Amino acid sequence: MIKPFSLFLTALTLTAAEPDWPEVDRHAVSFLQSYLRIRSVNPPADTREAAALFAGELRRAGLEPRLFASGPGGQTNLLVRLPGRDRAKKPLLLLNHFDVVPVDPKGWTADPFGGIVRDGFIWGRGAMDMKGIGAQQLLALILMKTTGTVPARDIIMLSTADEETNGTLGIRWMIEKHFPEIDAEYVLDEGGFGTRDMLADGKLVFGIAVGEKATTWLRLRARGIAAHGSQPIPENANDILLEAIRKARQLPAAGQLHPVVADMQRLMGAPFASNKYTNAIRQNTVSLTTLTSGVGDPPKVNVIPPVAEATLDCRLLPGTNAQEFISKMKARINDPRVSVELLSQPDDPGASPAGTPLFRAIAGVIRRHHPTAAVTPMLVPHGTDSVKLRLKGITAYGLTPMVLDRQTSTMHSDDERIPVAEYLKGLRIYLDVLRSEF
Ligand SMILES: [Zn+2]
Repeated sequence: MIKPFSLFLTALTLTAAEPDWPEVDRHAVSFLQSYLRIRSVNPPADTREAAALFAGELRRAGLEPRLFASGPGGQTNLLVRLPGRDRAKKPLLLLNHFDVVPVDPKGWTADPFGGIVRDGFIWGRGAMDMKGIGAQQLLALILMKTTGTVPARDIIMLSTADEETNGTLGIRWMIEKHFPEIDAEYVLDEGGFGTRDMLADGKLVFGIAVGEKATTWLRLRARGIAAHGSQPIPENANDILLEAIRKARQLPAAGQLHPVVADMQRLMGAPFASNKYTNAIRQNTVSLTTLTSGVGDPPKVNVIPPVAEATLDCRLLPGTNAQEFISKMKARINDPRVSVELLSQPDDPGASPAGTPLFRAIAGVIRRHHPTAAVTPMLVPHGTDSVKLRLKGITAYGLTPMVLDRQTSTMHSDDERIPVAEYLKGLRIYLDVLRSEF
């Protein structure tokens, strides 16, 4: 049950500058539960209900959200602004997304859209990616308003309909149609996080994402000769493809660490933990993601096909020249029967600078709440909407103000959940960041 918001507001008003935390916490949990119960699955990213939930919450606090319908299927973006003291400065943009990836309920031990609290966790699709953070951004902004705290500069919050299918009806649409309204000096988005085991073993590290790897999708196509399976031939497209894939994946050994990763290493004061995440942020990577071959439907077992295809999901460190990466791959494959096609033009705006007043403010707030934490800029291996804003010259940071360990790192996976205590602590961190000078 959601407590009547008027009660929440009254409690806040009475305590003026400091929120009534027990009441705020009760409301924050029930709010996230309501949010997780909304099936804003992408596709189709019908986010009308999520936008209405946010809009109602904002209006009750005296803020004026604007809704932008970006597609025919209910795709809805929301934008709201809290004026700050220095209106000459460009704003801080809080960025989150309403949409979530689909679920296969069979793999879950809880209803993915039940929004239940169990064993100290809030469970549901989007708890981590990124309804939990979206709720923290929203509630922190509302607490600024209801406690009468005027931020150092304007703060705007944009909640988008479509992040999980590349932002076409979300951030890309807003940039194309309404950029002046979201133009900002800084963006806070998803990305970094606190962890005791994912980055360094047994050491609390808080990473603030300043950059991400560039997504580079390739298709390899091998052409051979169709033949009868009873008589093997060297021109078998499958064999040609397998050999090409093997060579494509033989990346040169990683040289020097990327400067952001070298900073991480230094600031953590501990070796990187050994896992797929730290592996991915230290080098360019190639994942073989699809294989397509065979003649007929269903494919015939006794026919050697003339063509075989594979796709490679390559992720390149910022500053890597994609064309050079591809030419080197072609040179390694060195087979005229194999073509390498670029499926998506990689976006590489490079990393945002970490030496800004906002970065220092965030680091200071995190250290206040987690005195033993090493705080560091970091790279993330996956794509976020931040890249589109960095391309516009905006300094973008990924901030997940929660400590999450490997076991509960459940982004896009079954049983997605976040610890209630971290969610509530993260709300305090977010509020303190918004209250900072930057
Ligand atoms: Zn996300």
